[in-house]
Order: sequence, then C-alpha cells, then structure tokens
Amino acid sequence: MACALKTYALKLTKDKSGSTGGSRTAPTPTAESVKSRAESTRVLNLRELLFLVLSLAFWVSMMTVAGCAERQLTAPTPQMDAAEPFWIRVLLAENLTNCTLKVPSSFSVTNTHTQTAQAHFDQVDVPINVTISAGRITIAGRAFRGNEVIILPHDPYIFNVNGDDYRGKLKLTVNPDGDSFEVVNVVPLEPYLAGVVGAEMPDYWQPAALAAQAVAARTYCLYIKRRFGSKRRWDVRQTAANQVYLGCIAESAKIWEAVNRTYGRVLVCKHPNGSEDIFPAYYCSTCGGHTENSKHVFGDSFQPLRGVRCPYCKDVAKLSSFFWPMAEFDKAKVSTALLQRYPKLKQLAPGGRGEITSITGATYCVSMEMKMCTK
Ligand SMILES: [Zn+2]
Repeated sequence: MACALKTYALKLTKDKSGSTGGSRTAPTPTAESVKSRAESTRVLNLRELLFLVLSLAFWVSMMTVAGCAERQLTAPTPQMDAAEPFWIRVLLAENLTNCTLKVPSSFSVTNTHTQTAQAHFDQVDVPINVTISAGRITIAGRAFRGNEVIILPHDPYIFNVNGDDYRGKLKLTVNPDGDSFEVVNVVPLEPYLAGVVGAEMPDYWQPAALAAQAVAARTYCLYIKRRFGSKRRWDVRQTAANQVYLGCIAESAKIWEAVNRTYGRVLVCKHPNGSEDIFPAYYCSTCGGHTENSKHVFGDSFQPLRGVRCPYCKDVAKLSSFFWPMAEFDKAKVSTALLQRYPKLKQLAPGGRGEITSITGATYCVSMEMKMCTK
C-alpha cells in the first residue's frame, strides 16, 4: 500500500512540472506538449480511478478484518456481577510511576474505601496518562483522594493498560513509599481462566487437553487466592510464578469453549482433617519422566501431588527441557544466596548469627534441607 502511494505521488510531481526535475525553468507549451499533457491527464485520471478502486477494496477488507477482531475482543465480559470470592486479583505491575490507559468505553473511577464514584470519564479509546503525584493517583491530570482507586470500564468491561487488553476492573494502589503504584487487574474467574488457558496451552490442542488445563488452572488459582489472598492486595501474579495470564490476547473461540465446558468444575482431594477440598493443582510443561512430590518442592503435601512416572512428555518435549544437566551446589554460595534472599534466617539463631550447616539434595528435585547453626 505504501509503495502504491509513493509511486502515485512521484507521478503527480512529474506531470505537474512537465519534467523529471532536471530544470527549474517551465518549458514553453507546444501543441504536442498540450496534447501530451491532456493524454497524460486522462491516463492519470484512469490510474487515479484504478487507484481509488483498489484503495477502497483494500480499506474495506482491512475494516472487515479489524471489525472481526473488534467483535471478538468486545464480546461482553461475563460474570461482572459475580460474588467477590469468584473474582481474581492479578498483579500486573508493582512499582510503576506512570502507565497509559485506553478504554474502548466510558469508565468511572471509584475510591475503594468510600466505595463512591469520584469521576466519570468519556474519553473513548484515547490514551490517558496515569501517574502518581504527591502520593496520589493522577488520571488525565486529575488527582484522586485515598491510596487506592478502582477503574471500572463500562460495557463490555475491557480496558487497555500499556498496550495490553484485559477484562474486568483495574485497581491502582499507592505503594507505601508514596512514589510509585501497583497495578492489579480485578477480573471474574472465568474470563481470568480464558486469559490463562490460552497463554498456557496452544488453542489447537485437543479439546480434552484444553478442558483439563481449564480445570487445573481454576483449581490452582482458587486455592492460591484462599491461602494467600487475605494476606496481600492481590491473589496471583500474571507470570509463571503462578500461572501465565495474558488477558484478551490469549482468548479464542476454542479457549472459551474449554472454559465454558468446564464451568464451575474443580479438582478436590481428601485432606488430613477428613474434608474433601481443593488443593494447589500444580502443572508443568515437561516433567522429565517423573513428577516430583510437591512436599519436596513447596513443602505442602496432598495425596494427588505425590510423584508419579510420566510416559508422555519424553516423546514430545524438547530434549533440553526433558533432560537437565547435573546440578552441583557449593555450600558457601548457596548459604550466601539464601541469606541474601531471606535475611531473617540469620535472626533465627541466638544472637542473630545463624548460618546454614547442612544442605541435602533430594531425589528428582533441587530442594534442600537446612539446619541453622545455634552458636
Ligand atoms: Zn511428563
């Protein structure tokens, strides 16, 4: 398209000057040159017509494609009236000083403490600058009271932050330093799962695999939310630290089909107290031929999470993922790294002089046992 435009512009310049640009003097018009120009103009008009027809065809096709994408993207977000336990708070960014917000609908801004709408914005699809100023969240130059605001897009409940589309609401919280803020996507469970399943598994995989992924992801995030969510301002990260969540871009008809087909379905197991309940349904892309007992990795023990042999991934996994090289750990280096990562370990010993005295590897995994020196 750009090439066609460029060619057309050059042709116009040449015809207008009557030369190829070698002389700045306008040639004296002759009968031939006038006739030639008239023919040239007719040719140009035909070309122009052709160009316009092609342009029109091009833009109609582009608008059709964009329209399809738009229709898929703006499918209404389900469950916006779900109860609080069925919303997931996904941490998108922790220490921002500014971000760009774009909403394809009008939206309102609410103070989470007063639960009252503080402002209504009608700037549809316009990039809006969000910053922090004097400890306050500032949206399009307007500062908001309190240390936390919720941005609620109106139907179809979609917003774009720093170039990525998400469903639900956007929560902005001022960090204790007062100089930066945290960005959290508060999203109903099922739209959250659509953004996870499509990120964790290609949508051309078998429907049964996608459904299994949806059930595992639903179980995992509900468990993590319940276990850790009450102690922090978010439930899960959007990375593999929990499970990968990419928002709208991960969605497709097949992904939504897997999420909807398994609606409300979770995995449960018997817990030590005799109850039947959800558990952290960990999953991974490649297990290396044998899954590890979760007790050795995360310290939590659940009957379905014992290590089992896996005959599947050796035939499909990348060799570099299936076979890991031997890992060797130097006690001094591990001790230093651990104490740097967890400085409170030092304080466990009397006098605050703890050190790691023993590191023991376990079969199939890299977990270690540590004993603190009490000298
Ligand atoms: Zn496997």
